[in-house]
Amino acid sequence: MKKVAIIGSGFSSLSAACYLAKSGFNVSLFEKNDTVGGRARQLKKQGFTFDIGPSWYWMPDIFEKFFKDFGKKTSDYYQLDKLSPAYKIFFADDVITIGDCMDKICAEFERIENGSGKHLRSFIGKAQENYDIAINKIVLRPGLSPLELVTKDTILRVDQFFKTISQEVRKKFSNPKLVSTLEFPVLFLGAKPSKTPSFYSFMNFADFGLGTWHPEGGMYEIIKAMHSLALELGVNIHTSSPVDKIEVEQGNTKGIHMGGIFFGADIVLSGADYHHSETLLDKEYRQYSEAYWDKKTYAPSSLLFYVGFDKKLQQVEHHNLFFDTDFEKHAEEIYDEPTWPSEPLFYANFPSVTDKSMAPKGCETGFFLIPIAPGLEDTEVLRQQYFDIIINRFELRTGQEVKNNIIFKESFCVNDFIEAYNSYKGNAYGMANTLTQTAFLRPGLKSKKVNDLYFTGQLTVPGPGVPPSLISGKLVADLITKKHIER
Ligand SMILES: Cc1cc2nc3c(=O)[nH]c(=O)nc-3n(C[C@H](O)[C@H](O)[C@H](O)COP(=O)(O)OP(=O)(O)OC[C@H]3O[C@@H](n4cnc5c(N)ncnc54)[C@H](O)[C@@H]3O)c2cc1C
Repeated sequence: MKKVAIIGSGFSSLSAACYLAKSGFNVSLFEKNDTVGGRARQLKKQGFTFDIGPSWYWMPDIFEKFFKDFGKKTSDYYQLDKLSPAYKIFFADDVITIGDCMDKICAEFERIENGSGKHLRSFIGKAQENYDIAINKIVLRPGLSPLELVTKDTILRVDQFFKTISQEVRKKFSNPKLVSTLEFPVLFLGAKPSKTPSFYSFMNFADFGLGTWHPEGGMYEIIKAMHSLALELGVNIHTSSPVDKIEVEQGNTKGIHMGGIFFGADIVLSGADYHHSETLLDKEYRQYSEAYWDKKTYAPSSLLFYVGFDKKLQQVEHHNLFFDTDFEKHAEEIYDEPTWPSEPLFYANFPSVTDKSMAPKGCETGFFLIPIAPGLEDTEVLRQQYFDIIINRFELRTGQEVKNNIIFKESFCVNDFIEAYNSYKGNAYGMANTLTQTAFLRPGLKSKKVNDLYFTGQLTVPGPGVPPSLISGKLVADLITKKHIER
């Protein structure tokens, strides 16, 4: 039985561990932190439960497919609820509510712009076709060759790879609030909508067509489910085990080192951030230079606040976007001229609005996120300054006072991403999916310099987000299985 050592325990590593164990490998996983889950860890404090990272459960079909591959269902592990409404967007002069079905969403669009409901149905129809192609065909390819992208379906849609989502949206919708609403989903891919190919409108189908879901107990329930599944499949899981070197001899993988302890393995797979994983190798075995990493476009980092409120809040839903300032300007301050945003857009999540288990009775669990450029200076003073900005805006837009109802607040930013996950420049969501950073143009799943060394996660194929991380684990496990078992 071949031995695989996996570095990290995020969604991608756990996914790969499950598939590899199912294929018959002897799998051991090593995580530097004291709990599994990576960026999706959980914080529990004074009866409040916070998902530290992801909070939007989109593309439920992908989670279902993952568990089905092991003869399971998501409902064997956690209870999913469809959120209704899905979310709310606060603008300076109005609030848009996104319902849980197309009829409600079209009615809301019509309220804002006459005739937009019809345009929306046709836009989402096209987005659904793209979703079927992207998710069922393209995304399941390992990014080894440009030819993977050439299919009958993509040839017919080649123009959609050269036009941007911004151009496509603006062709049909003129109201700036509807434009921002339709540009929001591609932010999950990590780049500006004006740099994201219009083919990625499949994210709009994920949003309006498939809906927004919530696992009762929070997103960490998915990690708990995958952790249990991995244990059921026989994976050995070691937490508090930071790997400090990948051992290579004459171009062949030999194992990993942790503070003087050597663990021998036939295959090493790293789900830690790709840049960090390469620093665990001697220089001659690294595939990419520092200059390569430096010039890539990263998905944003974030300034996050986890806040316990001693009362229920008014006018808010489970998910709330505050798009009451200039979307374009904030995007420029993330991507074009990295700097702290002058007037930040932000996201506020109150899972206890729909899930009583997330907060003590009569209280609200609040998670606030400001997207920022990776690599910015991060100080306590700046964090507090930005908290004051957003909490004042929050009070103004929702018409209530909350500052005196804060029991505690914790923050997390660039320095914490580096410290907690060895994240390159403190990125939160990995490497952006742009035209030049898609599929075979991303850092590869398989090392070109070392035999039996592999990578997975949000900096490689297919890209950032929880569903892509599950797929990344499957893709790399398939490559390893093909080489070692199906020969
Ligand atoms: C604030 C935030 C909000 C997000 N929101 C959403 C959302 O709503 N929906 C969505 O789909 N996605 C969201 N994402 C993205 C999603 O969380 C990530 O794409 C996904 O969790 C990445 O998983 P991963 O396995 O690639 O990496 P990670 O989760 O980062 O896992 C890598 C693991 O490797 C470990 N590691 C690093 N170095 C070492 C070492 N030397 N030795 C041992 N272990 C090591 C790290 O500790 C970590 O546990 C969000 C991310 C963040 C940060």
